[in-house]
Amino acid sequence: MRILVTGGAGFIGSAVIRELLTQTSCVVANVDKLTYAGNLESLASVSDSPCYHFYQVDICDATALDTVFAEFNPTAVMHLAAESHVDRSIDGPADFIQTNIVGTYTLLEAARGYWSALDESAQAAFRFHHISTDEVYGDLEGADALFNETTSYSPSSPYSASKASADHLARAWHRTYGLPILVTNCSNNYGPYHFPEKLIPHVILNALSGKPLPVYGDGSQVRDWLYVEDHARALIEVLNRGVVGETYNIGGHNEQQNIEVVKTICELLEELTPGKPEGVDAYGDLITFVADRPGHDRRYAIDASKIQRELGWVPAETFESGLRKTVQWYLDHPGWWQRILSGAYRLDRVGRAKLQ
Ligand code: NAD
Repeated sequence: MRILVTGGAGFIGSAVIRELLTQTSCVVANVDKLTYAGNLESLASVSDSPCYHFYQVDICDATALDTVFAEFNPTAVMHLAAESHVDRSIDGPADFIQTNIVGTYTLLEAARGYWSALDESAQAAFRFHHISTDEVYGDLEGADALFNETTSYSPSSPYSASKASADHLARAWHRTYGLPILVTNCSNNYGPYHFPEKLIPHVILNALSGKPLPVYGDGSQVRDWLYVEDHARALIEVLNRGVVGETYNIGGHNEQQNIEVVKTICELLEELTPGKPEGVDAYGDLITFVADRPGHDRRYAIDASKIQRELGWVPAETFESGLRKTVQWYLDHPGWWQRILSGAYRLDRVGRAKLQ
C-alpha cells in the first residue's frame, strides 16, 4: 500500500508512521504544514527509510494537494492533520475552522478528483480514512450510557464542533460521491512524543522543574485514556479491514478523573526519579486548582465494543502500564522535549520536501 498520511509530524500521526514503517511494508507520504504542533524530530527513527516521503503542504492548498496525489499515487489516505488543542480553540477558533473544516473539505475534493480518475479496481481498493475524536459526542452526565457509533453529535468547544463538521463532510463525500470513506472516533490519547501543552506531558514536565501542576476546576472531569501506540494499531486495522462507510469508536476502557491522572503521575515520578527539584518535598504538593475551562465537558466514555467484535482489536496497554511507560519515556528523552520548550525544534527543521 502507498499511504498518504496527513498530520504525520503530530503526536498521533507520527505514531502511525512509525508503526507503518516498522511493522508493515507500506510506502508513506507525510503531508504536514508543520504548525507549532508538527515536529519532524518525532520521526527521526524512521525518516531515513526509502519508504518515507515528506511534503510540507497545507491541506487547505488545493493545488499543492493535487501535485502530491499525482506524484505519490496513494492507495489510501489517513487524515490526521488538524488543530487539536481545545484551549487554543477557545482563545482563537479561526485556525480550527480553517484547517479542520476547510482543510478537510479541500483534502476530500483532492482525493475525489484523484480517485475518480483511477481504474475500477483501484477505485474499489482505495480508502480515505478520516480520523476524529469522541469529543464530537459532547459529554455524559453520571451513569449515562457510553458513546457508541450511533450517539448523536453534540459538540461543546470550537475544536469539537470543527471536528464534528469534518466528520459530516467525510460521510457526505461517501454518500454523495461514493468515495470509500472510513471514520474513527477515539478517546484521549497519551504516550511518547505528546506535545507539552497537553495534560499528561504538561504535568510531567512541570513537576520535573518544580512548577505548579494546574488542574481545572475540582479535577473531577472524567476522560477515557488510550495509549497512542494502541490507537495507531487500531487505525491500521480499520484501514486494512474496516467496512467502507462504517464508523468505529476506539477507546481504552480506562476512565479516569483528571485529578487521579495527575496524582498517579506524581506517584510515578516519586518512584522513577532519583531526586526532586529544589524546594519540592513531594510532587503532589505542586498540584494547584485553577479556574475551570469555559464549557468544560464533564465526562467522556466510549463504547469500543464494535471494533473489538468486528476487527478483533483490543488495546495492549492498561492505563497503569501505559502511563508508567510514558513517564519513563519523558525521563529518558529530555532532548526531545527540551528542544520544544526552548523553541529550537522550529528553528532548524530539516528534511524539507523530500519528493520522489
Ligand atoms: P497534533 O496537534 O499533535 O498534530 C497535528 C498535526 O497536523 C501537526 O503535525 C500539524 O503540523 C499538522 N497540521 C495542522 N494544520 C495543518 C494543515 N493546515 N495542513 C497540514 N498539516 C497540518 O494532533 P494529534 O493529537 O496528533 O491528533 C491527530 C488527529 O487525531 C486530529 O485529527 C485529532 O482531532 C484526532 N484525535 C486526537 C486525539 C488526542 O487525544 N490527541 C484523540 C482523538 C482524535
